Amino acid sequence: MTDSEKGLLLVFTGNGKGKTTAALGTVFRALGHGKKVAVVQFIKGSWKYGELVTAEHFSSLLDFHVMGRGFTWKSDNIEKDRAVALDAWKFASDIIYAGEHDLVVLDELTYLVVYNMLEESEMLDVLKRRPEKMHIIVTGRKASDGLIALADLVTEMQEVKHPYKQGIRAQKGLEF
Ligand code: ATP
Ligand code: MG
Repeated sequence: MTDSEKGLLLVFTGNGKGKTTAALGTVFRALGHGKKVAVVQFIKGSWKYGELVTAEHFSSLLDFHVMGRGFTWKSDNIEKDRAVALDAWKFASDIIYAGEHDLVVLDELTYLVVYNMLEESEMLDVLKRRPEKMHIIVTGRKASDGLIALADLVTEMQEVKHPYKQGIRAQKGLEF
C-alpha cells in the first residue's frame, strides 16, 4: 500500500452515460501515481470491451476481472444466476480484504442488489470493513439508499441527451 490518507467510498449512479467511464478515468489517474488497482466488472455482454484489452498493458499495477460472463440477469435459471453472482461477490470481497490494492472498482455492483442476488446489508458490511486506506468505487444504476448513506461521494449521472434516442447504436471505443 502506498501513501493515500483516508480510503473513500465513491458511488457513480444514475441513468445517464458516464458511470463506468468515470470509474475508469479514475483508474487511469491512479495508475499514473503507481497505485495498485483492481477492477471487477459484474455484468458484461459479449462485446469486446476496450478497457479489458487496455488493462493488459498495465498488468503490473492493474488487475482486471470480468465476472459472470455469459449470463444475464433475466435468464430462466435464477438460482444459477444467483450462485454466479454470489461467487463474483465473494471474489471481490476477497480482493478487498486482501488489502493489496489502493483502489478497487466494483463496476455494475448495484445490479446485484437491484436484482436481489445479494443482500444490501452483506454488501455494506464488506464495504465498511475495507482496509482503512483503500478507495472503492461502486458503479451502476439505482444505487440503494444504504449505499448512498455509507458513501463519501455520490455522483448521479443525469441523461440530458443520448445518441441511442436518435437510433445511433453503440460504437466501438465510445461505449465499449
Ligand atoms: P459508460 O460505460 O459508457 O460510462 P455507464 O456505465 O454510465 O456508461 P451503463 O448503465 O453501464 O452506463 O450502460 C452501459 C452502456 O449503456 C453504454 O454503452 C452506454 O453508452 C449505454 N447507456 C448509458 N446510459 C444510457 C442511456 N441513458 N440511454 C441509452 N444507453 C445508455
Ligand atoms: Mg457502466
